[in-house]
Amino acid sequence: MLDTAIVGGGLCGVALARNLFRQGRAVALFEARERLGGRILSVAQAASGRVIDLGPTWFWPDTQPLMTSLVAELGLASISQHDDGSSLHLSDPDKAPERIDGRKLHEGARRLPGGMAQLIDVMAKELPSGLLYFNHVLTEVSDRTDHVVLTFADGDDIIEVEARHVVLAVPPRLLEQGVRFTPVLDETTHEAMRGTATWMAAQAKVVFPYARAFWREAGQSGNAFVTHEQAVIGEIFDACDGDGSHAALGGFLALSPQLRTSFSVGLPLLMTSQMVQVFGAVLEPAEQHYQDWANEPFTCSGLDRTSPGNEHVAVANPMLRRPQWDGTLHLAGSETAASGAGYLEGALEAARRVDLSLNRGWMKAGGGLPDAARPGDSVASINATPNGWPTSRMWRSTAIVIVSTTISRFSKESSSPSARFSNRWKSCSTTRSRCSTGCPSRSVRLRSSAAGRR
Ligand SMILES: Cc1cc2nc3c(=O)[nH]c(=O)nc-3n(C[C@H](O)[C@H](O)[C@H](O)COP(=O)(O)OP(=O)(O)OC[C@H]3O[C@@H](n4cnc5c(N)ncnc54)[C@H](O)[C@@H]3O)c2cc1C
Repeated sequence: MLDTAIVGGGLCGVALARNLFRQGRAVALFEARERLGGRILSVAQAASGRVIDLGPTWFWPDTQPLMTSLVAELGLASISQHDDGSSLHLSDPDKAPERIDGRKLHEGARRLPGGMAQLIDVMAKELPSGLLYFNHVLTEVSDRTDHVVLTFADGDDIIEVEARHVVLAVPPRLLEQGVRFTPVLDETTHEAMRGTATWMAAQAKVVFPYARAFWREAGQSGNAFVTHEQAVIGEIFDACDGDGSHAALGGFLALSPQLRTSFSVGLPLLMTSQMVQVFGAVLEPAEQHYQDWANEPFTCSGLDRTSPGNEHVAVANPMLRRPQWDGTLHLAGSETAASGAGYLEGALEAARRVDLSLNRGWMKAGGGLPDAARPGDSVASINATPNGWPTSRMWRSTAIVIVSTTISRFSKESSSPSARFSNRWKSCSTTRSRCSTGCPSRSVRLRSSAAGRR
């Protein structure tokens, strides 16, 4: 049986999986999409190959110690958000924008010029692909006293996974909307889940690459606000690389998700026209990169579409941080964080909280931390974090063996993670029997979708 199953491969889930794996825990990560990162999404421009962010862009070293140290630990380059020059404010569609001098809007914000997805890519490299399961949509979580059973849908297959501990690093509103808990969680927790908006889930973002940063040449920062009633893009910012040689402007849409859907055909043209209206007909954007997060079922719940909660809440409802079912079930993800909730920082804070909580439980149970892998162990990257805690022979003989068995089986398969996973499950599914090895849990079972789906 797995020791810890993590559901949700955003920053929180990936950071936690990496930490637990480093400690030698038998961990697996289950993700609904075909990719890791969740709200982190970096794409490459067609013309230049330069990476731009359609999800999170900024972190703030002054107030975000976990993000700051992760960026440093992973050796990623960062640049400060360009803010020099005047901003523009368009409040009347029939007039020119007003120029506002000397106001810095992004002071202290930094970006990763190679894209936020580097955080995920670098951490995920440490995880053997056999611990990652894509296209696994969690539908049910059941308490069995000394372990938890997770039910996933993967296409037509229904998959059950048993684990001693489960961490749900999924936005609480999505859990409330699409996951059945047996027994049901208490009403206060459900209320907290419903009441916690998923930060930025109802937003859409656009990035326009240009041949040159013409706004910088005109002494403008690239910051602009459009506040009239027909505004299409409400907030615009400079999205160039460090020296401006790859020029781009980014923006957040002002239209509601419903309006974006009804205008979808004409939206690209509307967005380009508004950029011309704000900045003048200096240059046409070379490309347009657009992401509507409200159309992403694994980010935006129905409630987020209708009640997005535009006020940022930095400290999440403490009900979401209570371990459930005698400490076997933990809610995580940025929207549960005690600080930096909704932000990347909050995702890391939640991962750290659950990591500490799991370790306290293991200490109480007498397990302690496993020893570091030694030369000769088949998983070279299993490293215990010393922390001065006692180590346990028992852990070395269970966790590491289970993990290494899984890794050696998976390392022989295809190089594409999603292909590997579907192959793995297909081969299990043909036998329709208890899987003895290779699955994330030795007691993974598959049954036909017709019988299993609710
Ligand atoms: C447009 C935009 C701009 C943003 N800008 C910033 C910024 O500049 N700075 C900042 O700090 N933050 C920003 N954020 C917020 C930031 O992206 C999030 O705080 C952070 O990425 C949350 O990480 P997470 O792991 O907690 O959740 P997520 O990234 O949401 O990860 C949750 C994971 O769970 C998976 N999942 C969902 N349902 C299921 C299911 N049923 N079964 C299995 N898996 C499931 C999802 O696919 C996803 O991978 C922005 C967000 C958006 C959308």
